[in-house]
Amino acid sequence: KTHYQILILGGGTAGITVAAQLRHKLQTFDVAIIEPSTKHYYQPLWTLVGGGVFPKEQSERLEESLIPSGAIWIRDSVAEFAPEQNRITTTSGKAISYDYLVIALGIQIDWDKIPGLREGLGRNQICSNYAFDQVDYTWECLQSFQGGNALFTMPGTAVKCGGAPQKIMYLAEDHFRRRGIRRQCNIHYYSAQGALFAVEKYRKTLEKHVVETGIELNLKQNLVEILPDSKAAIFEHVETKERRQVGFDMIHVTPPMSAPSIIQKSTLASSAGWVEVDKHTLQHPRFRNVFTLGDCAGLPTSKTGAAIRKQAPVVVANLRSALAGEPLAAKYNGYTSCPIVTGYGKLILAEFDYDGNPQETFPFDQAQERWSMYLLKAYALPTLYWNAMLRGWA
Ligand code: FAD
Repeated sequence: KTHYQILILGGGTAGITVAAQLRHKLQTFDVAIIEPSTKHYYQPLWTLVGGGVFPKEQSERLEESLIPSGAIWIRDSVAEFAPEQNRITTTSGKAISYDYLVIALGIQIDWDKIPGLREGLGRNQICSNYAFDQVDYTWECLQSFQGGNALFTMPGTAVKCGGAPQKIMYLAEDHFRRRGIRRQCNIHYYSAQGALFAVEKYRKTLEKHVVETGIELNLKQNLVEILPDSKAAIFEHVETKERRQVGFDMIHVTPPMSAPSIIQKSTLASSAGWVEVDKHTLQHPRFRNVFTLGDCAGLPTSKTGAAIRKQAPVVVANLRSALAGEPLAAKYNGYTSCPIVTGYGKLILAEFDYDGNPQETFPFDQAQERWSMYLLKAYALPTLYWNAMLRGWA
């Protein structure tokens, strides 16, 4: 078969959630998912894996166990788009056409944009929570650290989960304190951004936390190179372009990220490279049978799985309207959430919309650090993810 009514590209958080919801909502279900990987990852757990709370295997499931019944899994990669012909081509050379397309290809991690990073990663105390095969080395670095400079970086690009670069730093700080070596440690956050966090309400709590725990903030400083053998990092000021070299005894790197190259070079992309999209209906403004969500979508909000939980029902409702020839009524308000772990057993739950207005779930001030919210992140959210969200129930 080379034609499907609905073709979903990517079987990650967004692709599987949309497929599962369509399974419940459509009478005739003619859906295929193109996904090359045999494994699916619950990436939010990687913060706690890097912090030594869980083994990384707990974040991994077989892709085949998550494909909804009746959906066709095409184990291949998308290589090229031809939205003018309602068709894509895969890397194995297959052409597949569709009535409707859902693009859920995630974000591309540009490890090679930092010279020295790929060679150095996984040795010489250079670690990153941003890959399954690297994340346990973060925990090794935290455990073997004996004092000196511990650096944590945040790039100037969009990243998935904007809070994750600092969550691991707070866990590290707490871990060093518990081991009794905190006084020998200089903990530095180097961020290419101009502020610690975008939304004022949560930024205030985080700034207070940073002061209280003695973490040094270095804003507008972009990591541009790593010298793995001399254990040094080079940072460039984003405005003055002045460079400085800083030695480290461990460094956790959040690499720069971008839209997947195949999207960037397609006619579907906006000038910034993401899939162009109406930020409320999640429909492509030029190719009306194309919808997008998740990290690859050009939406002006923070890229998270929590955002996808609110985007998926909008895509599904609007796809159903489009199939019925009705106007698209469902609207996404930019909701996103970032559970910021500030230590072992402590968390502030940031939830906000396109305008940076808090959209909190619980009837208390979520900007305060709480143990209950830590339990939510560590235990309740993974269960919700595997058993409800990916099954199309939440
Ligand atoms: P993904 O889930 O990454 O899926 C993309 C899929 O597309 C993949 O399966 C990939 O194999 C597939 N693909 C790629 N290229 C092709 C191709 N050419 N053809 C076909 N398929 C392709 N979110 C939260 O909500 N809360 C958190 O606390 C949180 N913490 C995080 C911490 C870390 C360290 C990380 C890395 C992420 C975190 N996130 C968090 C973010 C969250 O995991 C992502 O936003 C979410 O998984 C994005 O879903 P997606 O479907 O857009 O992309």
